[in-house]
Amino acid sequence: MPELPEVETVRRSLLPVILHKPIESVEVHYERILQHITPQEFQARLTGLRFLDLTRRGKYLIFHLERELELVAHLRMTGRLIYCSDSAIAQAKHTSVIFGFGSAGDLRFEDVRKFATLDLVKIGEYEQIKGLAKLGVEPLAEEFTVQFLQEITVNRSATIKGILLDQSKIAGLGNIYADESLFLAKIHPERTGNSLQKKELKRLHQAIQKVLGLAIEGQGTTLRDYRTGFGQEGSFQNELQVYGKKGEKCPRCGVDLEHKKVAGRTSHYCPTCQRE
Ligand SMILES: [Zn+2]
Repeated sequence: MPELPEVETVRRSLLPVILHKPIESVEVHYERILQHITPQEFQARLTGLRFLDLTRRGKYLIFHLERELELVAHLRMTGRLIYCSDSAIAQAKHTSVIFGFGSAGDLRFEDVRKFATLDLVKIGEYEQIKGLAKLGVEPLAEEFTVQFLQEITVNRSATIKGILLDQSKIAGLGNIYADESLFLAKIHPERTGNSLQKKELKRLHQAIQKVLGLAIEGQGTTLRDYRTGFGQEGSFQNELQVYGKKGEKCPRCGVDLEHKKVAGRTSHYCPTCQRE
């Protein structure tokens, strides 16, 4: 699933090419991507409007439109939002929605697995989008501090891996970047929140920001489906230290990396660098 760096990369790539172009047509090829709205109403409300801005919260993309509307997209497992400068270019097989900009190309929402969603709401009215309404702190924002990490872990007997994946605490971390951050901070994914010392939380805080920053610089991690807003692969898969590398050598100490289920997710770690 695309995580913060991938969604942020899509945002940065699309922003300059979709801004202020009037939406001349809206084609809906997969109705169920639309939440709480019919394709007819969706087309009627969006046609003629322009995108004024594109922001991100956690793994959500928020397209700001004229008439105080916001179009909220979640890519889920395999969603891709791709700008095509020429509408004559053949559509991918699993294209769910196309926003046409006339002679200025189009924006295509492709999704093989069909879990992606689109919500059209009035500015800031997110009650119908539960995950967005309850999102926690942005890990690259100022509010994300060592003290905040301490507050969300101090009395918790849950695993640190589970706490990092909880979107209502920290927004945008998923399996890949949680594992990479824990490795960098030398913390075992099964450590409980209340067992972590201040110096470990400091390392974790630094590791999360470092890993996310480098992954954004690398335009995200493409293991299979993820593409940038221009349909290109990211490069951070080449920089991963532990994720998906069970049986390979730890780049720090050389022992075999392992994986196990933690908080319901396959978690990759070094049994020597990250002690239980
Ligand atoms: Zn190691």
